[in-house]
Amino acid sequence: MESSHTEASMTQSGGTTEEPMPGSLLPGLKRLGGRLLDALYPPICPLCKTPIPHHPGLCDTCMETLPDAPRHLCQGCGAVTMEPLTSCTECPEMGTPADAVYSAFWYQSPLDNMMLRYKFGDRTEWAPLLAALMWSQLEVSFTQENPHLIIPIPLHYRRLVARRYNQAALLARSLAHQMDCPLSTNSLKRIRMTTPQTELYSDERRRNLHGAFRAEPRRIAGRRILLVDDVLTTGSTMHEAVAVLKEAGAERVIIATLLRTKTPAAQPRGLYEA
Ligand SMILES: [Zn+2]
Ligand SMILES: [Zn+2]
Repeated sequence: MESSHTEASMTQSGGTTEEPMPGSLLPGLKRLGGRLLDALYPPICPLCKTPIPHHPGLCDTCMETLPDAPRHLCQGCGAVTMEPLTSCTECPEMGTPADAVYSAFWYQSPLDNMMLRYKFGDRTEWAPLLAALMWSQLEVSFTQENPHLIIPIPLHYRRLVARRYNQAALLARSLAHQMDCPLSTNSLKRIRMTTPQTELYSDERRRNLHGAFRAEPRRIAGRRILLVDDVLTTGSTMHEAVAVLKEAGAERVIIATLLRTKTPAAQPRGLYEA
C-alpha cells in the first residue's frame, strides 16, 4: 500500500494542518469512491474472506465475535472500573486526568491479531475499517462530546521513518472522515524519543515521558480535543499528551482508543509504544 505510506508520512511530517471536509461535495465523492473501490476489489470480510455488501466492514458472523468494550472506564484515567466513575484511586498516578476516556473493544481475539497486522504488518488499508468499528461502538459518546479537533498520538520522527507510517494517525484520519470533524496532525508533536512504556516500571513511566510532547497553543486553546490512539495500555503516554494539551489551553481533552488491554502485564512488549 504505497499510497497509504506516502499519505502517512505527509500526515506526520506536518504536511497537513487542519483539514475541514468540503461540505457539499463530500457525500457524493464518498459514494463514488466507494463504488469504484467495490468494483476494483469486491468487498470481502478481512477476517474470514466471505463476501460482504460494501467496504469497509466485517461479515455479520465476525461482527458477533468482537470483544465488546469494557463496560466502565474511569473517565479520569481510563482504568477499568466496576461502575461509572469520574475519578478513581489510580487517577493521581496519571498526573493530569483526561475529561473522558473511551475505548471501543478489549484487546482480544480477533482484534488483537488484526491490530498487530495493522500496526506492524503494513495492513494500512484497514484504517477505515478500524475507524468504522470504533464509530460503531462510540458514535453516541463522540456525538455528545462534539469535538472541535481530532488529534492522533504522534510518533517521534525517527520511529516514523523506521515504521513508515503512524497507525494512530491513519486511524484518526479515517475517524475524522467518518465524523466529519477536522483533523490536526501537527498541533501536537513528539519532540523526544522515549523508551517503550511497557519496558518500564510504573514509577519510571511519567519520568520517561516528561517533555516528550509539544503542543501548538494557537490551534489548541479553547478547543475540545479528541485524542486518538490505537491501544490504551498503561495510559501514561496518553496522559502526558493530555497534560501538554491542557497546558496549551485546551477546553476539554478526551481520550479515544480502538482497543483497551485487560492487563498491561500481559501486553506483548513494545506493542503500545514501539
Ligand atoms: Zn467474517
Ligand atoms: Zn481513574
